[in-house]
Amino acid sequence: MGMVNLLIALTLGLTSLISEAGGVRFSLVKTAETRPLDAFSLARSQESQGAVADHVAVLIEHHAATLLFDTSLGRQIDSQFANEMPWYNKPLLKGVEVAPVRDQLERHGVRVDRILLSHVHWHSASGLADFPEVPVWAPYEEIEFSQTGGAPAVLSGQFRHGVKWRPYDFLPRPFMGFEQSHDLFGDGSLVLVPLKGHTPGSVGLFVTLEDGRRFFFPGDIGGLPESAEESPKQRLIRSRMLDHDRAAARSTLARLQQLLSQESALTLVPAHDAIAHEKLGYYPNWTR
Ligand SMILES: [Zn+2]
Ligand SMILES: [Zn+2]
Repeated sequence: MGMVNLLIALTLGLTSLISEAGGVRFSLVKTAETRPLDAFSLARSQESQGAVADHVAVLIEHHAATLLFDTSLGRQIDSQFANEMPWYNKPLLKGVEVAPVRDQLERHGVRVDRILLSHVHWHSASGLADFPEVPVWAPYEEIEFSQTGGAPAVLSGQFRHGVKWRPYDFLPRPFMGFEQSHDLFGDGSLVLVPLKGHTPGSVGLFVTLEDGRRFFFPGDIGGLPESAEESPKQRLIRSRMLDHDRAAARSTLARLQQLLSQESALTLVPAHDAIAHEKLGYYPNWTR
């Protein structure tokens, strides 16, 4: 091969590499929405704050892989609820129509290579059982919590099929004000950060598009305000149910608020925030 040909070949190779690396896109796959439980329920769940809790998984396409961030509610949510959910939380799904992520993706012939979890609570990870063949990435602490956590937040039926867990570590590489991070493909487009407190191994995901727009998916952290009409007893039960480590949860929330005040261009997409979700639209609409 002559020098010119070699140069052309190199240039072509480089061009195709760059276009292949061209950004990520994501889409919110909505599985259900739930409404507040009635006022007589003592242990109100997180969904009971505010009017409607939107349940979504995030489908992400990167040239290296197709990913899901959380699985949201799955095909087996009814049996998970029937078998394990305490009576006071069961009405949450009464009359609620669920559109499992796997059903929606199969209609479009989409195959998922990897699942990342914000945390293992049932709203985030009920649908794991629908993807038994797909590796599931989570920090060690969260994998452990999937075995020690219990109802109403964690239902063992979510994991009974035998999850292909892939534990990962965070590295001491600062990112967006967090001391540690995990850059999934080394290109800065998908970066995980630890958000301890809500659960032992909660994580958030930064998605940076090719044009520089940046989105942060914090899971259940800082998503829903306290309800004004909540009694002190209800509030106590709720906080016990929701945050595994309240001091860590408070400091994580403070860090998140600081980040949002510094980065006005950052779009926050909490796991159950219907208003934030509607702005982005739902699968098969893409944000790119
Ligand atoms: Zn949660
Ligand atoms: Zn949740």
